[in-house]
Amino acid sequence: MYSNQARLSNPVDLRLYTTLKIGGCAALFFIINEKDQFPAVEKYCRENFYLLGNGSNILVKDKFIKTPVIKLGRGFCYLRHNNSFLEAGASTPLSFLIKYCLDNNISLAEKLVGIPATIGGMLAMNASSFGCSLASRLQEVEVYDLRSGTQAVLKKDEIEFSYRCSSLLRSGLLILRAQFRISRGKDLKAEIEKRIKERLKKQDFSSPSCGSVFKNPAVSPAARLIEACGLKGVKKGGAQVSGKHANFIINRGGASYRDVDFLIKMIKDKVFKKYNIILKEEIQRWG
Ligand SMILES: Cc1cc2nc3c(=O)[nH]c(=O)nc-3n(C[C@H](O)[C@H](O)[C@H](O)COP(=O)(O)OP(=O)(O)OC[C@H]3O[C@@H](n4cnc5c(N)ncnc54)[C@H](O)[C@@H]3O)c2cc1C
Repeated sequence: MYSNQARLSNPVDLRLYTTLKIGGCAALFFIINEKDQFPAVEKYCRENFYLLGNGSNILVKDKFIKTPVIKLGRGFCYLRHNNSFLEAGASTPLSFLIKYCLDNNISLAEKLVGIPATIGGMLAMNASSFGCSLASRLQEVEVYDLRSGTQAVLKKDEIEFSYRCSSLLRSGLLILRAQFRISRGKDLKAEIEKRIKERLKKQDFSSPSCGSVFKNPAVSPAARLIEACGLKGVKKGGAQVSGKHANFIINRGGASYRDVDFLIKMIKDKVFKKYNIILKEEIQRWG
């Protein structure tokens, strides 16, 4: 029945596939390695499905997840370039891209170093740091529509990118590969080291997390607002508002979805009462 597709023995514990290490098991979990394998999973995904990158922005409920989960596997992990552009498979980790660019003296993503994401997840979320994003160098993406079984190439101007969002995220299209404009690198190693240092200084890598929980409101970084409400270090079960970066909620061991949800609600409530600002979540909730 599943001859032409890789299907993990089910159910699959999603804690193993998310950086926050929280969540229940997925009833159906497909790892796709080739485009030919899509038709076999389409019938499971007509109603709905979740698409997993590196799981670094996802909060999964502690329950059996009936919605099928799709992950692009090794077949979509590759990099190649010529003088003017670089092409990356969507499941390629950003860290591979950074290393490849360093080895080939290519300037593309050095300011993004340290984001624990795949290229597909970064484009869908329009991830950025230090004013840089992959979207700014994007030329085109190849996408697959699991609902209609069709494939297309979208040019950059056919895609909307906004703060931590894109039309790709909203559409449910699977990003298969992306092509970027590149330029010759200049002091790449120094730039990468500098950005790693800055990231280590600001962000909390002491325990599992999914990065910033809330989007930054226009008036102030969310972390500053949360800190000013006196919430740094506040705990609920195994979850804690990071004492280092107040927009991070960390899993200090055994945190549940409910623990994190409790802290999120508390933060929103306190920030609203103090500043009349509604914090919006950057993280994607599943389940
Ligand atoms: C320690 C830490 C630091 C972080 N720092 C930053 C930062 O500096 N800047 C920043 O912007 N974010 C940051 N993040 C958040 C996170 O890394 C980004 O949101 C990233 O873009 C998520 O990529 P991912 O591959 O893990 O995607 P996932 O978390 O797996 O998925 C995120 C969303 O993208 C969709 N998606 C994934 N792959 C594809 C695909 N191939 N096609 C279509 N949709 C897809 C998913 O369905 C989901 O809706 C950080 C997270 C952590 C844990």
